[in-house]
Amino acid sequence: MSYRGRLAPSPTGYLHLGHARTFWIAQQRAIAANGTLILRNEDLDRARCKPEFVTAMYHDLRWFGFEWQEGPDVGGPHAPYNQSERIDLYRRVFEELRETGSIYPCVCSRKDIEQALQAPHASDDEPIYPGTCRNRQLEAGARASWRFRVPDGEAISFTDQARGPQTFVAGKDFGDFVVWRHDDFPSYQLAVVVDDNAMRITEVVRGADLLLSTARQLLLYRTLGLAAPAFYHCDLMTDESGVRLAKRHDALSLRTLRLRGADPADLRTTL
Ligand SMILES: [Zn+2]
Repeated sequence: MSYRGRLAPSPTGYLHLGHARTFWIAQQRAIAANGTLILRNEDLDRARCKPEFVTAMYHDLRWFGFEWQEGPDVGGPHAPYNQSERIDLYRRVFEELRETGSIYPCVCSRKDIEQALQAPHASDDEPIYPGTCRNRQLEAGARASWRFRVPDGEAISFTDQARGPQTFVAGKDFGDFVVWRHDDFPSYQLAVVVDDNAMRITEVVRGADLLLSTARQLLLYRTLGLAAPAFYHCDLMTDESGVRLAKRHDALSLRTLRLRGADPADLRTTL
């Protein structure tokens, strides 16, 4: 099986050096394996994704030195590569999960969940869902999200290609997670599993902030009877004060660096 990797930016702002670092590692790994690199536009967040960010994404990535063999702008055998055009695929998998009884409707608001939790959650991941709706009957017409019921107490293990063996305990490190949102869109967790499988991705290279999501996604792969790809989680880049780079760090956006005349070859040596 030949290597297939992916770059999966979300056009909710300008890409910054932290994205470039993760994507560069992804590209180097695809090149080293003589593989294929896919660009997937993760544009499911209708409120935050903007056309100007999509345009900037192609421009800034190419300027930096990225080259992909499949993507929204170049086509390929697994088109469409814009997530917003793949809703039917996600919906089919959502229906499959619903039929197997592995998901349930949840009508809790964020505030409900925070109030139901005794202790404040320390991590920057989402709070662990207290299971309020696990056995609740959904009233007809109610707007609900749909959560995956995790196997409480089960250790989910995988070998990360960068960090070695990883284990997370369902129900303790992460709880029942949303696969379909109350606004009738798929969640990130569902969409990436569907896409990485459909696009025959063999290795997912992404930031270490998604390690817990990998445990969640492994449960989806298993429930759907799909083989999971390998995972390589990169350290996240921080600024001088140790704060993780975010889209608000405009000075380190690829766009700003380009407009200031930075040389991508120099920038690549700083990653
Ligand atoms: Zn609920």
